[in-house]
Amino acid sequence: MERLQKVLAQAGVASRRKCEELIVSGRVTVNGLVIRELGTKVDPELDRIELDGKPIEQEPLVYILLNKPIGVVTTASDPEGRKTVIEIVQVKERVFPVGRLDMNTSGLLLLTNDGELANGLMHPRHEVDKKYIAEVKGSISEEALAKLANGILLEDGLTAPAKVKLLKRTAFLSKLEITIHEGRNRQVRRMCEAVGHPVQKLKRVQVAFLTLGGLPPGGWRYLTDFEVKRLY
Ligand code: URA
Repeated sequence: MERLQKVLAQAGVASRRKCEELIVSGRVTVNGLVIRELGTKVDPELDRIELDGKPIEQEPLVYILLNKPIGVVTTASDPEGRKTVIEIVQVKERVFPVGRLDMNTSGLLLLTNDGELANGLMHPRHEVDKKYIAEVKGSISEEALAKLANGILLEDGLTAPAKVKLLKRTAFLSKLEITIHEGRNRQVRRMCEAVGHPVQKLKRVQVAFLTLGGLPPGGWRYLTDFEVKRLY
């Protein structure tokens, strides 16, 4: 048995707070009865839960870790007909990506139909770490590394401090490990560009405690129950 607001939030109805408001305002019924009591326990498999008279989707919750290949888009469908991450995983549940990776970025992407977990992972307040390996043009200076780590003024504001580690530096390129917890659009590319080192290759290797392990590009696996509990 689960709390009603949790079941609604997991089904992707809205955030948990908003679901509480929906319950209190009398818009949710369980087996035909209006329930206004927060914390009422329901069985998501057996009870018929409706919002404004419409049954909520109650698919089994699935959690997928994908190694996204380069050239695949992180949307459910693409008007230009490019391959999407949803086409790669091919599960019957209606999963969606947690955040996004650019078409030319590879690496770790989570997909789920658990709206609550997805919102939690993406919410800036939770500061979930995301680790990238970036190969950038040129031989990066210590000063540029410090700038990346301390914060950079981009057009949408100052970036939060990042963890930056130099992995390799030649006369022509540098390889960095960059860990950020913000999730702004094209953030790593824009940060590197801002210090004069455009990204040539970008791969996300870790989200929270999850890593790619030995998954090849295009490979995916379900998260274990233990991993899902740890993410919550
Ligand atoms: N930062 C980027 O620039 N691109 C991504 O895909 C992810 C983070």
